[in-house]
Amino acid sequence: MDLGLQGRTALVCASSKGLGYACAYALAQEGVAVTLVARGAQALDDAAASIAAETGASVRKVAADISTEEGRRRVLAACPAPDILVNNAGGPKPGDFRDWRRDDWLAALDANMLAPIEMIRATVDGMMERGFGRIVNVTSSAVKAPIDILGLSNGARSGLTGFVAGVARTTARRNVTINNLLPGPFATDRLAATLRAEAAMRGCTYEDVVAQWTARNPAGRFGDPMEFGRTCAFLCSAHAGYLNAQNVLLDGGAFPGTF
Ligand code: NAP
Repeated sequence: MDLGLQGRTALVCASSKGLGYACAYALAQEGVAVTLVARGAQALDDAAASIAAETGASVRKVAADISTEEGRRRVLAACPAPDILVNNAGGPKPGDFRDWRRDDWLAALDANMLAPIEMIRATVDGMMERGFGRIVNVTSSAVKAPIDILGLSNGARSGLTGFVAGVARTTARRNVTINNLLPGPFATDRLAATLRAEAAMRGCTYEDVVAQWTARNPAGRFGDPMEFGRTCAFLCSAHAGYLNAQNVLLDGGAFPGTF
């Protein structure tokens, strides 16, 4: 299917690796000019080079921390008027809530709630004026089914989800949609770190944890990041203008609800 995105521009936050990289790759495959963002310059250079070489798309990159005001200022200077915005950042650390202090909570809120809200604030009015916009926020299946050791994520992302539920209803009339994409377990560096932390807390091996997680998923496996990226590209497509204000769960069917 032609997603109708040829010639569009996308700003994809936190995209040198993992799910953000897959979103940028899938959009680039559709002829979208992408701007990549990550803190580490080397991985960012490598990501930009491989997406450009493999898709032929125009790829720009900004080494910046999207959770900071200064980082966002530089990102928006490089790409002030994107047609597509993918909000993403590293997830908060796992742990026991008894060990977290105010600064831990503020860091989680900065990265996983306030940064996407600020990026929406900076771009959504231009999208509405131009009559096209697609905003996808990478959140987590933990918004629907919380994971106890990821309490910082559960809390911060639920705040973003509540905000998006309101604002998305004010933009769709101008063909600007805002949706959240909720990953279950996808095979990325982040997932490996979460599994290692669980193994350490439970005193078992990493391999044991992987076997238990995959066994209890209805698909019997972790998600492939490109499955996530291509779903993101569809949400950004010309065909998805009536798909708005949704929390799209990609978890192999792990969430045990009917709706
Ligand atoms: P990943 O493989 O660790 O990749 C994270 C990417 O984000 C890297 O490119 C990283 O580069 C960049 N990044 C992190 N913090 C950033 C910041 N402050 N500013 C700019 N770039 C930043 O992680 P992932 O698995 O793709 O996860 C992406 C998001 O989905 C995370 O919030 C994660 O918690 C969430 N999630 C993932 C899963 C899963 O199974 N993978 C499940 C649920 C939720 P630098 O470090 O160089 O900045």
